[in-house]
This record gives sequence, C-alpha cells and structure tokens, in this order.
Amino acid sequence: MDPLIFNIQKFSTHDGDGVRTTIFFKGCPLRCKWCHNPESQSYQKEMVLYRHKCTACGTCVKKCPNHANAIVDGQLLFDRSKCTACGACIDWCITEAREIAGKEYTVAELVKEAKKDQIFYDQSGGGVTLSGGEVMAMQNMDFVEELCRKLHAEGISIYIDTSGFAPYENFERLLPYVDVFLYDIKRISREEHLKYIGVDNTMIKENLVKLSDAGAGIYIRIPVIGGVNSSPASILNAIRFLKENHINVRQINLLPYHDIGKNKYAGLDRGYEDSSMMVPSKEHMESLKELFEEHGFHNVHVGG
Ligand code: SF4
Ligand code: SF4
Repeated sequence: MDPLIFNIQKFSTHDGDGVRTTIFFKGCPLRCKWCHNPESQSYQKEMVLYRHKCTACGTCVKKCPNHANAIVDGQLLFDRSKCTACGACIDWCITEAREIAGKEYTVAELVKEAKKDQIFYDQSGGGVTLSGGEVMAMQNMDFVEELCRKLHAEGISIYIDTSGFAPYENFERLLPYVDVFLYDIKRISREEHLKYIGVDNTMIKENLVKLSDAGAGIYIRIPVIGGVNSSPASILNAIRFLKENHINVRQINLLPYHDIGKNKYAGLDRGYEDSSMMVPSKEHMESLKELFEEHGFHNVHVGG
C-alpha cells in the first residue's frame, strides 16, 4: 500500500533549517502519550469530526451511504465503526465540521508540490522535511526512496524527522539522499521508554549509533515533557548516551511539550491522557540547555 499523506505544510520554519515544505506521512508504530498529531498514528484514512462546529443540520445523515450518522434529540451521533472514510459527506458539511485525515499522492505530485517553493529553499538554506507519523516505518519504502531520489535529483535538500523506530535497512536505503535526520530521543532507559511510549528503545539507540558511524547528518530532538523526561537526571542520561557512543551530533533541539493537539483527540473519539504531563517552564528549558552546554555541546536550541 502506498503511504497516505495527512498534511503538506508550506513555509515551515520549525522542521529543520531555512524555509521548508514539510510532508506528513500517516502511520506510526509508536503511541507517545503526548503526540500532538493523533491523526498521524493510524495507517488508514480516518474521519476527524470537529463537534464544536456541528450545527446538527443533518445533511451528512442523508449523504452517508453507510448510515454512520444520525440526529437524535437535536444532536449528531456518529458511529465510527460504520464509517469507511469514503469522504462523500465532507463537501456537504457547510460548517466544515468534518475532514478526512489521509490522502493518496503519487511521487510525481509530491515532487511537483515541493518544487513550487524551490526559490525559497535556495534563498534560505531550506528544503523538504519528511515527517509523520513515522516515515521510516512505511509499509512501502520503495515509495519513500523514490521520493527522496527524485527530490535529491532536483537539488532539493531533504531532512527526515524520525523516532528511529524502524529497521536499519530502511535508513540505509535513504542515506545517499538525506542531508539530516531529525532524530528524536525521548527516554534512554528501556523500562521508562516502554512505560511512556509503549515500545522497547533498543533498536532506536542502535540505529542512532549506526547512522552516526555511517556519517549521516544528525540533529537530536528531545521533546521535553514535565513529569515524563524533564528532570536533569533524565537529560543527563541522554547526554551520557550521546557522549559514550560518540554520536556525531550537529545540533540539539529541546522541544518543550505543549498540548495544542489535545482537541484533535476528541475529533477522533479518543481520550487524551494529560494528567501526568506538564508544560516545562522557560527557565527550566534554559537550564537544560545549559546542562548540554556544560557537557561540551555547543549548537543547542530551545525549540525547533
Ligand atoms: S453536515 Fe456537518 S454540520 Fe451538518 S450535521 Fe453533519 S457534521 Fe453537523
Ligand atoms: S466519510 Fe463516508 S462513510 Fe464516513 S460518514 Fe462520511 S459519507 Fe459516511
């Protein structure tokens, strides 16, 4: 199955250097509790329903061939189990309360889209960032490789935003084309990683060492979440890992947690577990930046 794309963000300045077009792939093997793009997790198309915009006009009830909608007591009831994400109701909803997350594109269409802003990439040192979801864990890596090969042939810089949770062969395939991997480190402790992210991080750590040894460009990105990994001890663990394994880090980005994506969970009829997660203060973020600098890292930034 070709990957689905759930967003193409133009003029992005938080996903690597310069002005970039960020292409978001749908599907991820991880389930980070703080994920601000929950619509990125499933590999399938999904209905996102913004109930606060719904006026219960009933149009979608008439348009749905699968009887997934009903108006009861003046309120819309939506049965997600009946929805095939066919999209037939979307254009009829005048309040734009509905959207389908996930769209098919060909490689040629994505390259064409990316090329529209090539002049801005050239002027700013930007390019294209492939993000997700987890682009390195797509079922069809031929698609991803072809996209990278064609963007590279056009002289467009490619960054890949990754959790590292994918077979190393997938990274090897893309190495000739990718300028920088924006590589997430969440927790170094295997047990804590299992607790908060739901998977063993052995492969993530091994892949980072292999990429570094292969001479890949690496920016380390640490999402800093109060109550999860924001303690100096947790950050020191990351510092120790990077130093002990001689990871060739070009840049460190400490990304403070925010809960902007919270409302999207409701749109997918999912709960958001935020009780244990806190937004770290500016002062705390600066102190973690200093911690990195004290240990010899110089290109350290708070934010993307
Ligand atoms: S068409 Fe839109 S506004 Fe009307 S009931 Fe359906 S979701 Fe609500
Ligand atoms: S996307 Fe299709 S199946 Fe789902 S509610 Fe709309 S019309 Fe029905």
